[in-house]
Amino acid sequence: MPELPEVETIRRQLEKKIINRKIEEIIIKDKRLIKGVSPRVFKFEAEGASFKRILRRGKVLIFQIKEKTFLIFHLRISGWVILSKNIEKFSRVIFRLSDNNNFQFCDQRALGEIRLIGDWRNLAVVKKMGPEFFDLKEKEFIELFKNKRTKIKPLLMDQSFLAGIGNAYAQEAVFCAGIHPQRSVDSLSKKELGKIYSCLSAILKEAIKKKGSSLDTYRQLNGSPGNYAPLLKVYGREGQACFRCGYSIERKVIGGRGTYFCPHCQK
Ligand SMILES: [Zn+2]
Repeated sequence: MPELPEVETIRRQLEKKIINRKIEEIIIKDKRLIKGVSPRVFKFEAEGASFKRILRRGKVLIFQIKEKTFLIFHLRISGWVILSKNIEKFSRVIFRLSDNNNFQFCDQRALGEIRLIGDWRNLAVVKKMGPEFFDLKEKEFIELFKNKRTKIKPLLMDQSFLAGIGNAYAQEAVFCAGIHPQRSVDSLSKKELGKIYSCLSAILKEAIKKKGSSLDTYRQLNGSPGNYAPLLKVYGREGQACFRCGYSIERKVIGGRGTYFCPHCQK
């Protein structure tokens, strides 16, 4: 599932490729992805407009196409975007651009969402979101955990608590900090929370630099995989030796999600 580094990679790559490109035509191959407006209204409002600005909030991509019109892409579980002359097999909605490229929302399982809205800040999913990680200083990050009593790893990936972190990067961050994913937040010292902050910061920055992790369907804009997956320290490594202590990595379902950790060096 794409998280902050993957969505940010796509945003940066799109910014170099589609700004000021006009949407000549929209081909909706799968109506299920268009949410909130009818496909007819969606086409009417967006065709003829141009991509002016591309923003990201959490895992959501936001395109300004007119002064008061925004397109919203939520890739969710299995969505990805591609810019190419060819039409991809799992292409669900295609934006034909003025440079003859096809900007495509692809999705194997059709669980992604595309919306059209006057102001992206009014989007329900955005209104419910916690702060952006990179907007927070260490002190503000630590402050967020005050009075929380849940387990650390599920809390880190709760979008209403902190936007953009998902299953993979949350477990990498607690491994890096040497903290057990099931530790109760109220048992963590400020020093430990500070460690999670610096780990998250370093991991997310490096993952953006490496153009994200292709753990399932995620691809860069040109179709090639991201380069961060081989650098993951615990994710997907059940039974393999911990890079820090050599002990065997374990997998456990925590908060409904498969979580990998080292039972020896994560306390
Ligand atoms: Zn270990």
